[in-house]
Amino acid sequence: MLFSKAFIPSRRETPVDAEIPSHRLMIRSGMLRKTGSGIYSYLPLAKRVITKIESIVRQELNKIGCEEMLMPVLQPRQIWEKSGRWQIYGPELMRLQDRHDRFFALGPTHEEVITLIAKYDIKSYKQLPINLYQIQTKFRDEIRPRFGVMRSREFIMKDAYSFHKNAESLQKTYGEMFDAYSRIFKRCGLKFVPVEADVGAIGGSSSHEFMVLAETGESEVISCECGYAATKENCKIKKLENKQEKLAEVEKVYTPKKKTVEEVSNFLKVEKNKIIKTIIYKSDDKIVAILIRGDREINDVKVANFFASINLEFATDNEIAAKMNSVAGFVGPVGEKEVQIYADANLQDAVNMVTGADEKDYHYKNVNLKRDVNVTEFVDFVLAKAGDACPKCGKSMNSFRGIEVGQVFKLGRSYSKKMGSTFTDENGKEVPYEMGCYGIGITRTMASAIEQGYDKYGIIWPITIAPYEVELLNLSTNNKKLTAYCDKLYENLKKKGLEILYDDRDIQAGVKFNDADLIGIPLQIIVGNRNFKKDIVEMKLRRDNQKRKVQIDNIEKEVKALISELFREIEE
Ligand code: ATP
Ligand code: MG
Repeated sequence: MLFSKAFIPSRRETPVDAEIPSHRLMIRSGMLRKTGSGIYSYLPLAKRVITKIESIVRQELNKIGCEEMLMPVLQPRQIWEKSGRWQIYGPELMRLQDRHDRFFALGPTHEEVITLIAKYDIKSYKQLPINLYQIQTKFRDEIRPRFGVMRSREFIMKDAYSFHKNAESLQKTYGEMFDAYSRIFKRCGLKFVPVEADVGAIGGSSSHEFMVLAETGESEVISCECGYAATKENCKIKKLENKQEKLAEVEKVYTPKKKTVEEVSNFLKVEKNKIIKTIIYKSDDKIVAILIRGDREINDVKVANFFASINLEFATDNEIAAKMNSVAGFVGPVGEKEVQIYADANLQDAVNMVTGADEKDYHYKNVNLKRDVNVTEFVDFVLAKAGDACPKCGKSMNSFRGIEVGQVFKLGRSYSKKMGSTFTDENGKEVPYEMGCYGIGITRTMASAIEQGYDKYGIIWPITIAPYEVELLNLSTNNKKLTAYCDKLYENLKKKGLEILYDDRDIQAGVKFNDADLIGIPLQIIVGNRNFKKDIVEMKLRRDNQKRKVQIDNIEKEVKALISELFREIEE
């Protein structure tokens, strides 16, 4: 491509609303333009990157027997009613009406559509397993679209759905998809970690997220050197230790105006880990009490999952007073009969604890859950943090930030049951399929490659997804001989199958250098007057910015070899 003919509207200014490097650099390098809040146009450079990521995805999925299809973006409300998600998806689902006042959703994912297709057209175990995917624009009315295409309201996703006769078959495909995802992100040149993830609103039994390591990532991942890694929301920890001592008698103590764990701990001179916090939640319409050790936080996601809550919030002071006959700030579990009490599993062997006494300005000391409290169930509710011991090996865990670029889910039978999608098994019985679903954010993957590859001058693309492989800079377009050489080199390299952007513009060399570094094509060939007179051109790898002199006669061979080497580094 000739730069003079290309649409690459680079800019010097940094856009004011761009908070992270990938967003800034995509705007500045002329890849991306904002059309509305969370809505973007992908200009030619971005489109080339997207096409490359998509083609890696296609190759790896086709290799394991997936088939590509395309489903509608516009989906009638009725099918969303069938799965129950018209109600539970919430405001993120883009809804609209047609001229006949019928409601529709713009697809945020396609479980409903595909499960209904399967219902009518996959009728026998003999047709299973089947794994279908599409690459398509998705819509989510994100509460806070931000970071450019990292969290936008319209974005490109690859979504795949698999159908199985039993759980073993699902497990096999899940494993194959997991491996295909690992190859896809490796081939995109990314540093990533698969982590155990929350199953969230989609439901199902197990899930992994693929996290690209980056400081600007919105997710916190907790991981151990033994290989265990999970999102903070989903992380398990080795059980916390509680100091053991002889059980003492419950004692009511005066704690004037001391409400928080901090205040009570200081006032009574007890460690925070000897205090029990009683937190009252309202899960949909049900009030429940959750107990957690005073030095720890509750993980709301674990709570919402345990109660299968659509809406989880804290109970109000009035609700606490009415339902529990208690006082906010002094709520405790002793003698509670109205409200069910669930305790974090780490409290199971805790002894002689401090709790609220359900009376203004009073707490109890020496509360023992087994003796004094009617605990319905001990459940893992604790929010993990760096430094906690690994649930697998016991070593101290670390935390890091990550960008979720893909997720694999075992859905099990949750959708097929709700939507009545069944097949006839070997015994002639109608049974719902086991299903899996698998997403990759194509446009988010593009942005995350920039989060991992940039410097103060601009983007540094991995060769496998770079918009072009080589940029040729003609620094002296008014030198006829030099220009004729560049034109020829451009044609020859193209013939060798290289993707090359040729900066043939009649502008200052400095602008060309800046643009080349900003756009971030992995290899630059720089042809300038002084070197050219000595039959020399320069090569520069964008990632180290070191220039190397090369004899004109050798340049084609060297470029070809270097590009092959860059591919080998990533793909082998
Ligand atoms: P997040 O937790 O970041 O909101 P999600 O878990 O809701 O994402 P999935 O339903 O798993 O997303 O969608 C599959 C993939 O689509 C994600 O792994 C991510 O790469 C991409 N994706 C999801 N939401 C967005 C968005 N708003 N903008 C860009 N990409 C997105
Ligand atoms: Mg996800």
